[in-house]
Amino acid sequence: MDFAEPADVYVINTCTVTHISDRKSRQLIRRAARNNPEAMIVVTGCYAQVAPGEALAIPGVDLVIGMRERNRIVDLIEEAAFRPDGPRQAVRDVRTAGEFEELPAPALAHERVRAFLKIQEGCNNYCTYCIVPYARGPLKSRHPEKVLAEARHLIAAGFKEIVITGIHTGAYGCDLPEKINLADLLQELVQLPGLVRLRLSSVEPLDVSPELIATVATCGKICPHLHIPLQSGDDAVLKRMNRHYTAEYFRRLVREIRRNIPEAALTTDVMVGFPGETREQFQNTCRFVQEMAFSRLHVFKYSPRQPTPAAKMPDQIPAPVKEERSRLLIALGEELARSFAARFLGREVEVLAEEPSREFPGHYEGLTGNYLRVIFPAAGNCRGELIAVQAEELIGSNLRGKMVEGAGG
Ligand code: SF4
Repeated sequence: MDFAEPADVYVINTCTVTHISDRKSRQLIRRAARNNPEAMIVVTGCYAQVAPGEALAIPGVDLVIGMRERNRIVDLIEEAAFRPDGPRQAVRDVRTAGEFEELPAPALAHERVRAFLKIQEGCNNYCTYCIVPYARGPLKSRHPEKVLAEARHLIAAGFKEIVITGIHTGAYGCDLPEKINLADLLQELVQLPGLVRLRLSSVEPLDVSPELIATVATCGKICPHLHIPLQSGDDAVLKRMNRHYTAEYFRRLVREIRRNIPEAALTTDVMVGFPGETREQFQNTCRFVQEMAFSRLHVFKYSPRQPTPAAKMPDQIPAPVKEERSRLLIALGEELARSFAARFLGREVEVLAEEPSREFPGHYEGLTGNYLRVIFPAAGNCRGELIAVQAEELIGSNLRGKMVEGAGG
């Protein structure tokens, strides 16, 4: 982004999840200020929340706005514009924040088929490596009627698939006076007329209850796809991460999910190079990942974040070792993704058409319920349609096939 379009105010929404995110946020802020010396530069988001002084010290920054003030952003900018000598920082401690903050996002049905629907914010888990509880504060669930209202709005705007998101999504409802949990909420959402698909984003292993598995297994509109962050397959590392489960617990959970939803896509996050992670512990993780046969792997290199406990732990792993472990695990993930997709060769799969393929002219592409990307020839516009495709060929970990006679188009 070069900030070449002229504007009076530039609002930079920052991220702080790794030190690379911090660096990118700072680069973006500097670029905006350099290219637009006359404009007001406003910094908000997680980096602004956890390092407001640092953000304010970047030359050209006029105003820093924390996570709890985002709903006042227009007022704060106006105040700053009329009072240039007024306060330049509006950042409150997020750890005392009370309720879910309603920030409705516009629905753009003509551009997208899938919409994200946020049902909660914050997290109380304090995994030792994670900055999120410091940047986003404690868990706050969105009231179910607000969730349902936004879902209705998204459906009316033409979205076909709604992806349920949050930070600690699996704990949904535990802070609400209503007795409601994630499974209950999903059961209410699938009743909404016009909804084609509902997909869950990340759910922590300890929150995947038998009730949630049964809900995903029995509600046809809920995609057979669970993203469950593993982080490590070694018990000692999991303990130091403050993750409260063991590899054996995870193994049993996966067995239970596959018993109930045999073709479920199980995707995960794994962190490499956590402080003190030995070669053997890393190998335990690789073996475990292989055994679980995840269909997709997101690999993260550990990044020390102040003030998390892990940033102060001894035996920080050198960058080249993290790099090498990440490379090995990514390769394993790609292999697993290919073997999962290969299971569907020669079979008919149902695809929600998303967009014309950039790689294959005259083709469309979209996702199956179990998160396989499928490319197929399509003459006209079939965006948003459910298409039956006969899978014929593997391209990387994607499938290519042809439309089944009489389907879609
Ligand atoms: S559960 Fe997720 S968001 Fe919460 S502290 Fe752990 S890693 Fe961070």
